[in-house]
Amino acid sequence: MSSVSARSVPFFNYPFHFIRDEKAYIETFRNVGRRGAFILQKDLEEFEHALAEFLHVKYALGVANGTDGLMLAVRAAGIGTGDEVIFCSHTYVATAASIHFVGATPVPVELQADHMIDPESVEAAITPRTKAIMPTQVNGRTCDMDALQAVADRHGLLIIEDAAQALGSRFNGQCAGTFGIAAATSFYPAKLLGCFGDGGAVFTNDDAVYERLYQLRDHGRDREGQLRSWGINSRLDNLQAAFLSRKMESYDQEMARRRQIAEIYQDRLGNLPQLQLPPAPEADDRHFDVYQNYELQADQRDELQSYLKQHDVGTLVQFGGKAVHQYEPIGFSQKLPRTEAFYERCLMLPMNTSLTDNEVDYVCETVRSFYER
Ligand SMILES: *Cc1c(COP(=O)(O)O)cnc(C)c1O
Repeated sequence: MSSVSARSVPFFNYPFHFIRDEKAYIETFRNVGRRGAFILQKDLEEFEHALAEFLHVKYALGVANGTDGLMLAVRAAGIGTGDEVIFCSHTYVATAASIHFVGATPVPVELQADHMIDPESVEAAITPRTKAIMPTQVNGRTCDMDALQAVADRHGLLIIEDAAQALGSRFNGQCAGTFGIAAATSFYPAKLLGCFGDGGAVFTNDDAVYERLYQLRDHGRDREGQLRSWGINSRLDNLQAAFLSRKMESYDQEMARRRQIAEIYQDRLGNLPQLQLPPAPEADDRHFDVYQNYELQADQRDELQSYLKQHDVGTLVQFGGKAVHQYEPIGFSQKLPRTEAFYERCLMLPMNTSLTDNEVDYVCETVRSFYER
């Protein structure tokens, strides 16, 4: 441990991005504020274009947050009362809530070894009411979309991606958020591309779905301001869009650095038999993972977590420590043994671009010293 000088590593450093580029963000605020350009202005449009171009998708539309984005995507895909939508229970409750709040039934299924939705469990959960599969592109990885699309095709189902954790992640060269009928992502501050508050976006390649989304997020109004349908207010603030455009400029470096940190974790922790690490950056040519999180499985997980806490290393068990179907107040009755076993072992180490190599080393040394005591 002698070369490691870091002694404290928080799980996430919320002020980091703002402080690093404070002058530029204040300048952006001044510029937007002086124009009085707060709602549905050119900064939002420019950001939406940049986002669509980055993902190689026909349309991107800013919304108030990722959860709204998912709900509007499900609704715009024509899903509603009486329909069932299959999702992986290893996700945030927002995935299920977006299905619930259009009147449909969310049906949870198991994860597989890479923490992603298990296509066999999906197939087993299909009923005559199933309308769609909603995979979560969790931790910055994109599912094996070939396998999932094959299931969807066999049963005539739509795919709607929860890409809240996966901006820029790719499978076979194609970006998360561009595979199905529609998808959504989140700009929550701790997400890969975070804004300074709440924000989200929806994506689609389908003209009719885009038109419905466009109206849904702004009171049912079309481009001329004419009321065309029922809608809500779920607009991305123009100011947040301006901040996000600025942040997008360095997003390639952001992804590269996260992959580099994952590489260090792999190098330093890969030989510990007590851990199962997530797939390494170069493990599979088909996957380009961007590591929203570094989620591993650990023997003596709870003891490891308190040991790390004693040594000032912040960690987190994702989604409040339970899979969605394990939360009794929202009424699921399914038993998913593999997912439940996973939640006894899963833990996230710090993963973000505020981390120095030295801090990553300190995390690794501390984890190693726990098992080598
Ligand atoms: C963050 C997140 C969401 C919700 O995004 P918000 O912008 O916070 O509404 C949905 N799904 C997953 C998997 C997430 O991680």
